[in-house]
Amino acid sequence: MNTLCLPADEAAVRQAAELFRQGQVVAFPTETVYGLGANALDEQAVRAIFAAKERPADNPLIVHVAHSEQLEGLCEVTGTARKLMAAYWPGPMTMLLRKTNAVPDVTTAGLPSVAVRCPRHPVALALLDACGLPIAAPSANRSGRPSPTTARHVYEDMQGRIPLILDGGACQVGVESTVVDLTGPIPCVLRPGAVTPEDIAAVAGQCTVAPSVMRPLKEGETAPSPGMKHRHYAPKAKMTVVVGGDDAVVSELIRRYDAAENAVILAHDSLLSRFGSRRVYPLGDTPLATAHCLFQRLREMDETGCSLILAQGWEAVGEGLAVMNRMARAAAFDIVQV
Ligand code: AMP
Ligand code: MG
Repeated sequence: MNTLCLPADEAAVRQAAELFRQGQVVAFPTETVYGLGANALDEQAVRAIFAAKERPADNPLIVHVAHSEQLEGLCEVTGTARKLMAAYWPGPMTMLLRKTNAVPDVTTAGLPSVAVRCPRHPVALALLDACGLPIAAPSANRSGRPSPTTARHVYEDMQGRIPLILDGGACQVGVESTVVDLTGPIPCVLRPGAVTPEDIAAVAGQCTVAPSVMRPLKEGETAPSPGMKHRHYAPKAKMTVVVGGDDAVVSELIRRYDAAENAVILAHDSLLSRFGSRRVYPLGDTPLATAHCLFQRLREMDETGCSLILAQGWEAVGEGLAVMNRMARAAAFDIVQV
């Protein structure tokens, strides 16, 4: 299959909407990462997403809608869900709600809940509006690769597998949406993102965080969110994350770099000059800036052919939680506190 990559102008959006109506798969930009979309209510179309990504069938998809009214008939919208939508939609917050029979089992991997989100990106919104369908869309990477934050990343992973990629430039947030489970008595964050647990508690009154957000699953423990049990965000090289005060982190990164062969350092922008002639790349100066560039850096590090990535982390609180959740998984939980 020939894969077209088009600037996301009006004509390209119309073409993508028509492909959705024909049951095809199209990649499109959102404010978090690029999504690989298809009609969420068409079983065959959803199967084509799993095939293109090589995604395990037990990992459910997020259903994207143009506005909250489109949830009608798809899921049971609770009072808390209404409040959260009013505060954070369109935006990087996905809610788990009880599904109706209209949503095929393949979309939710057989689960009784469906994940729903309204993205805050003009192209995604125009596309959802133009096709008039709820669109199932996981991140547009091949399974196990870092999520794509540019159309070029999508092309690297999806070339020959899908007919069309809409190019809307680099994604603003850079990490996937917050996933919050609203099927229990208290909202529970299963995957942290740009909408923080504190943001959710401010509107819903309370919010918990699943313990597996910052540690590996234990033997026999079931993943609250199936995506958490799969290898994810992994660069080819081994990766270690170092967290602590700036001076201690710089010394530790240098010590480990000098003891290794073929290592690279990812450090906060303000510290770059402290590594001399060592190979060092910028990772932003705030947790949000790191989120924005992390997946791009991990892909670039693959291209350098390095064998060890030594990365400066953040404290896993507030906006730092989402970026540390991704860094921890990329590093297979090899996190060093200094
Ligand atoms: P992605 O689309 O690649 O951002 O992945 C979607 C994430 O949402 C995965 O981690 C899924 O495991 C999670 N997810 C989607 N639907 C559900 C659901 N019904 N229950 C629990 N987790 C879900
Ligand atoms: Mg993904």
